[in-house]
Amino acid sequence: MTAAADTGLILRAAQFAAMKHRNQRRKDKEATPYINHPLALANVLWHEGRITDARIIAAALLHDTVEDTRTTRAELARAFGKSIASVVAEVTDNKWLDKKTRKRLQVEHAPHLSPSARLVKLADKICNLRDLAASPPADWSLARKREYFDWAKQVVDGLRGENRRLERLFDRAWRARP
Ligand code: NDP
Ligand code: ZN
Repeated sequence: MTAAADTGLILRAAQFAAMKHRNQRRKDKEATPYINHPLALANVLWHEGRITDARIIAAALLHDTVEDTRTTRAELARAFGKSIASVVAEVTDNKWLDKKTRKRLQVEHAPHLSPSARLVKLADKICNLRDLAASPPADWSLARKREYFDWAKQVVDGLRGENRRLERLFDRAWRARP
């Protein structure tokens, strides 16, 4: 793709995600607009991970649309193509399963993720650990935060080897655990 087409794809994904998440907030006590989170992933990948593949940046922007909004994989495939929709599907939990099973499956599935999905998953975990350290949900106990950090590490330990730089960023965020 040309640079102009890359920019167009990224802008379209940002607008699509902003529209889909428009009524959602993060769990921190300021109830930050949800879109800040996909934008954070995209920035971590681009500026810190030096990932310049526009399809991966677009997948990061879209990564929570199927899990957290009414967006379907087919809708993403129509709007952004099958490969971006497939990366989003790989990082989407099955909403029909209970939370404990979803957490276990993320650990089990991590070693089988595609290279692109590994990058998006790494950025997601980096951003969530940073959020938990800087602006956690108001009602989370210290024990619950620590359990989340340890679970995130189990997921990331299963997908190492794809991008050392992002893995180091994750490890740095993990070492700052509460
Ligand atoms: P949740 O999955 O309910 O919440 C974490 C998710 O919320 C993140 O993965 C992120 O997902 C999203 N999120 C939204 N806002 C924020 C924010 N400000 N900071 C970080 N993440 C945010 O977590 P769990 O209920 O699974 O709890 C984590 C751990 O704690 C689990 O291991 C669970 O077993 C344990 N637990 C402990 C309890 C206790 O009292 N000790 C009680 C309940 C659970 P996304 O990127 O998809 O938006
Ligand atoms: Zn996320």
